Amino acid sequence: RLDVAAKLARRLGVRVRQDVVHAVDGVDLAIRRGEVVGLVGESGCGKSTLGRMVAGIMPPSDGAVLWRGRDLRSLSGAEAREAKLRTQMIFQDPYASLNPRLRVQDIVGEAPRVHGLVGRGEVEGYVDGQLRRAGLDPALKRRYPHQFSGGQRQRIGIARALAVQPDFLVCDEAVAALDVSIQAQILNLFMKLRRELDLTYLFISHDLGVVEHLSDRVVIMYLGRVVEEASAEAVFRRPNHPYTRALLAEVPRIEVRKRAFAGVKGEIPSPLNPPGGCHFHPRCPHAFARCRLERPVLREVAPGHRSACHLNEAT
Ligand code: SF4
Repeated sequence: RLDVAAKLARRLGVRVRQDVVHAVDGVDLAIRRGEVVGLVGESGCGKSTLGRMVAGIMPPSDGAVLWRGRDLRSLSGAEAREAKLRTQMIFQDPYASLNPRLRVQDIVGEAPRVHGLVGRGEVEGYVDGQLRRAGLDPALKRRYPHQFSGGQRQRIGIARALAVQPDFLVCDEAVAALDVSIQAQILNLFMKLRRELDLTYLFISHDLGVVEHLSDRVVIMYLGRVVEEASAEAVFRRPNHPYTRALLAEVPRIEVRKRAFAGVKGEIPSPLNPPGGCHFHPRCPHAFARCRLERPVLREVAPGHRSACHLNEAT
């Protein structure tokens, strides 16, 4: 049963001056209740744009985002509010989204109070519970955001998101700005919350290593298109697409693959003027004439495993 689905079946675009950048192009992504989907690609590949569309922050210029099977744009006021509360976004830089003039207790307590999720007299105890759940000492709740470390600020952002009782978290590079040891703590927190609250995640990262232990399914994007999609196990053990293989070679601890494949060469082209045919062809070591002319479509290469590469048709 699909709980949250983003069906972006046709070309989606955002306007930049006179040009149209197809930040997300022909993506059809379904996320099932309770699932953790890792969305991976280099910066500029459209993954954050897709995340914002799925979270309802940015409407697609074409296509639709479905929530519990219904187009977000067709929801009534009360339904739209519920969809908004149930889907929360966690950003890379929580400091930028935390009001520096508010104490933590107000940052975490404001939305549940405004939306009537708790009575006025219960807010303080409610905030304490959310802070504890996010791994913060409630005794610190009268402090301001600048009095916390980066990892603690991310926990404040998580507590604020949890306070409106979401069932779906879209995490956009949520650990990218943190030291490696703190990254591991926050990733463990996400997994603990998944177990405790039955949460669904779209976990966006440029680093396959970050989503490795977290995801049930992994979706790889390149210049606005999905190039491979499979279970995490299949992506890490039996990657099909040359781009996925190159990304895996850049994960330092996956030693076998590092020896077997070269990393991604060169810079990602501008989305303003993407290469024709297969967008990846200028950087692909296996490119041949057809790759420059024809866009490869996503095809099933094994049950539940799809990849967009002409090599799969040649064999
Ligand atoms: Fe490389 Fe061609 Fe496959 Fe694109 S379609 S990934 S260029 S081999």
